Order: sequence, then structure tokens, then C-alpha cells
Amino acid sequence: MYRGDCSARSDQRKIADLKTYAMQNFARFAASLAADPAAAPGRVAKALSTKSAKAMEGALAASGLGRTIWRNYRGKGVAVMFHEIHADVEAGLRTGCSPGQLRFVLTRLKAEGRDFVTVEEAMRRLLDPAARDFAVVTFDDGYRDNRDLALPVLEEFGAPMTLFVPTGMITRNIDAWWLGIRELLTRFDAIDMEPMNRRLTAADAPSRNAALRDITLWIGTDQARTDALQPVFARHGIHVADLVDRLAFTQDELKALARHPLVTIGGHTSTHRFLARLPEGEAYEDIASNRAYLEALVGAPVTAFAYPYGSAGACGAREAAMVDRAGYTAAFTTRLGHLFPQHREHPHLLPREDLGGAYMPGAEIAGRLEGWRRALKRAGAGPIATLD
Ligand SMILES: [Zn+2]
Repeated sequence: MYRGDCSARSDQRKIADLKTYAMQNFARFAASLAADPAAAPGRVAKALSTKSAKAMEGALAASGLGRTIWRNYRGKGVAVMFHEIHADVEAGLRTGCSPGQLRFVLTRLKAEGRDFVTVEEAMRRLLDPAARDFAVVTFDDGYRDNRDLALPVLEEFGAPMTLFVPTGMITRNIDAWWLGIRELLTRFDAIDMEPMNRRLTAADAPSRNAALRDITLWIGTDQARTDALQPVFARHGIHVADLVDRLAFTQDELKALARHPLVTIGGHTSTHRFLARLPEGEAYEDIASNRAYLEALVGAPVTAFAYPYGSAGACGAREAAMVDRAGYTAAFTTRLGHLFPQHREHPHLLPREDLGGAYMPGAEIAGRLEGWRRALKRAGAGPIATLD
């Protein structure tokens, strides 16, 4: 028997396992519907939009089939993204993940045979066919918990961390609307959100989490809507600068942290706005002034950048050209995908996998770390992410 035959047979077995897994999953779902018939229609409708997709992802991960079918989506490298790390994930309205999740992700990456490297080393390895596979671990926005809760975990692995820091988080001169919303939902049971023409309830954890999701979806990539939140914050006595002061590094703290052998500081604009929505001159200034600020702070060249928000609506080809012109040699989006040698031809729109969501299911973690979540979510898109 030759190898191809053998591997085809193992794929057959995986498909059989997948069918068994999916059947069991759907049988459990059907039984739970029978237990509460009144709720069934609503739950079936919801299942069609979410549960079937989630069950499919779970089955693909558990059977190993996702990895097998889409093995060409596994890149030589992968960049993973975190934001806040929370000791109490519920108190943070699930806007950050636990140190345990970070440790789990690093353990998985190591088990995959990946070395942890800096962005600079990652770009070198993409050009070196003999280099070992790698992972880059990144943290956005300059939160103090990255030092207090994440760095000890990275030290366990000897893993470098890259922090993408907006100037305004350090100078307390930033419209960190996402922190304002979280504070609003934490402190008040009901909020008249005039810009949305809605009254939001936030009396318990599920309603708070739902309200947070609704507001974030409503904002989308519309800068004007983030501005419209200001009167709401003011009316509720919420001062965003105080929230930033509570959570983000001071200038001295960031300067001290930058001297840690595992830490590299990268750019993230001065004001953390949707760059694609700004006039060209203003967008460029936001990129370049942040780089100048950070270089003066750390006393060394700052060469890696991450786009605020990082979605297709927040950054594209125009922004990539600006980041290049500002002197950055590598820039990360939040588009799904792994890193491939071809990315050296366009290093200013690098994909990055978000592993920082609270309570991320094991199947999603597997799909992201093995690369195939891109195949699942961007049907028809090839392995090498750029503008999509
Ligand atoms: Zn950010």
C-alpha cells in the first residue's frame, strides 16, 4: 500500500467520525427542543444562523478534519492578537480573556512546533525556507494588565511580546469610547442611548453583554457615531480620561517595560481612529506622529505597526501605502489568516488571528491556530490574506 492510499483511508475514517459527532450533536439539540416546545421555533431560527455553524466548526476541530482538509491554510508563521487580560473576565464584561486562555494558546502553539519570535525575526524567517515555523504574540492598546498578567505567562515560555500602543492611551488624550461604554453598562441598569434612539437595559450580565454587542455593531466603522457617544458619557458623569488613566500604562511605565528583553513596542496611531475614514493627510499624521512619539520614548527605531480595528472598513491599500511611507517595515490587520512567504511582497497588510475573545471555544482556537478558520469563514478565499 502506498502513502496516498493510506492517507485517503485515514481521511475516510475522519469523515465517518465527523458524521458521528455531528449526529450526536444534532440529536442532543433535538432532545432539548422537545423538552421545551414553546421555545423551539425561536431556537431553531437561531440555530440555523449560529448553532449549525458552531457545530460544524466543533466537529471539524474535534475530528481533526479541518486541519486535514485545509492543510494549505497552515502558514509558516502565525501572528496572534490579544487586548486586555482580565483576572475577572465577567467584571470586564468579557472584553478581555483570562491569563489561563493566554497560557492555553501558547501551549498549543508550542505543541504545534512553533518558535515564539519578534516581528523582525518573523519577517526574516518568511524568507528562509530552512527556518523553523513560528508564532508572533501581540497585544494592542497599551493596557497595564499586559505587564501584570500577560508578561509572566510569556516569561514561562520565553516568548517575546509585541505591544502596539496608541500615543493617546499613554498621554490620556484619546477618545477610548469602548472603555466609556463598558463603564456605562457596569454602573447603570438602564441607559437612554439617544444616538441609537434606544433605551438599553444593563441590569444583569446577559443584558449588559448584549447591550455592549449592540452598541459595538451600531458603531461599525462610523467615526461620527463614536463622537455621538460623548454627550451620553457626559450626562452619566463618565470621564473617559479617568478610565484610560486607570487601565493604561503611564509614560514612565511604558518606558521601563520597553527595556524588558522580551518586549518590543510597535505603532498603533496617535488617536486610534478608523484610518480609512480620515482624509489622507490626517490619517498619515496620525500614523507618523505616533511613530515619532514611540521612538523618542523607547530610544530606538519602531518598525512594526498594527491598524486600529484592523478590519476591511478600517484599513486597506491606501493605509498600507501610508504606513510604508511612515517607515514601518511590517503592519498587521485583524484579517483572518496565517503568514506565508508571499507576504514578504506586501508586508503592510499582514493577517492576524484574534485569540483574545473571552471564553473562546476550543474549536475556534484550533481553527485559528491551525489556519483553517479562514477557509471556513471566508468561503472561496485562498490561504494568503491581504485585502480580505
Ligand atoms: Zn487598538
